[in-house]
Amino acid sequence: MATHRTKLLIIGSGPAGYSAAIYGARAMMEPIVVQGLQPGGQLTITTDVENYPGFRDVVQGPWLMEEMQAQAEHVGTRMMWDTIVEVDLAGGSPFRAVGDSGDEYIGDALVIATGAQAKWLGAPGEQELGGKGVSACATCDGFFYRGKTVAVIGGGNTAVEEALYLTNHSDNVTLVHRRDSLRAEKILQERLLNHPKISVLWNKAVESFAGDPLAGGLTHLNLRDTVDGSASELKVDGAFVAIGHSPATELFKGKLPMDEGGYLLVEPGTPKTEVPGVFAAGDVTDHVYRQAVTAAGMGCMAALDAERFLANLEIDTDGHAHAPEQVAAE
Ligand code: NDP
Repeated sequence: MATHRTKLLIIGSGPAGYSAAIYGARAMMEPIVVQGLQPGGQLTITTDVENYPGFRDVVQGPWLMEEMQAQAEHVGTRMMWDTIVEVDLAGGSPFRAVGDSGDEYIGDALVIATGAQAKWLGAPGEQELGGKGVSACATCDGFFYRGKTVAVIGGGNTAVEEALYLTNHSDNVTLVHRRDSLRAEKILQERLLNHPKISVLWNKAVESFAGDPLAGGLTHLNLRDTVDGSASELKVDGAFVAIGHSPATELFKGKLPMDEGGYLLVEPGTPKTEVPGVFAAGDVTDHVYRQAVTAAGMGCMAALDAERFLANLEIDTDGHAHAPEQVAAE
């Protein structure tokens, strides 16, 4: 068990965490990023990224995250392949976190960039058939449905992108949506509605996932019409749940204020949480925009605010206002 000390501890390795690290390292804060269970975050389970500024051509999500990680390391960030399981914010700075490995991390400032993860419907059969026909990641599992019939549940960008992606493997993709209009971007809607391999079932809710987990897995979805209440079945080999995300904030329950969805609350327009020196950036605090580029922007803001926080700490400890570099040299 080792103890790792840093001026800037960053939990999470999506665009928010890596951007905070890039800015933090360049401000000589020698940041540590504890990467978590999915280094690189949600973009590592997507494919085409067409809206991250700076790339005229389509880039791949995993590649983009590798580049961000490499850039953060290049400017002096230490990457830790560990998952934080406990945090102590009560006494103020410095903040203490403990990893799954047993290692301890101590940071004078803390950036929380733990992101969000896919939501499940909670319908009967969903859990039992998880990995046996039911999935929340088309780019991870779509390959298994080559030439088979699949459904995607949801009506947002994720659902539409997953349906489009699945046409690489399947000729028969059905989008099942509980309303009669999609909330996905218009350009994606157009691609979906004009795609010859995709059909849409409107006004249908999934009541249960049917099949034998031990023999053949998922066979069909039991659906309920949300307008007239009628029941129907949809025969499928695979079903992809794509109904949004929930923030990874379990660690901070009772320690930081959250909204009813579990998103960390920050001072409007800033990444500042209620605890001085603790900042939140990216999807963990944002249920509105949730884009790689907005998360990256918030990571940058968090690092800049952390730098200011540390400079003020140094003023406080000896009562003199001087630059952090001078303190470090003393
Ligand atoms: P959204 O919250 O946008 O959409 C969730 C969808 O799932 C909605 O259509 C919603 O239905 C449906 N839904 C939610 N709960 C249930 C339920 N219990 N039963 C049935 N359907 C349900 O989530 P996304 O993950 O699609 O997108 C999240 C954010 O990430 C958005 O801001 C999106 O723009 C962004 N994103 C951007 C991408 C890009 O730019 N390339 C790619 C992927 C995501 P209803 O419409 O009726 O509420």
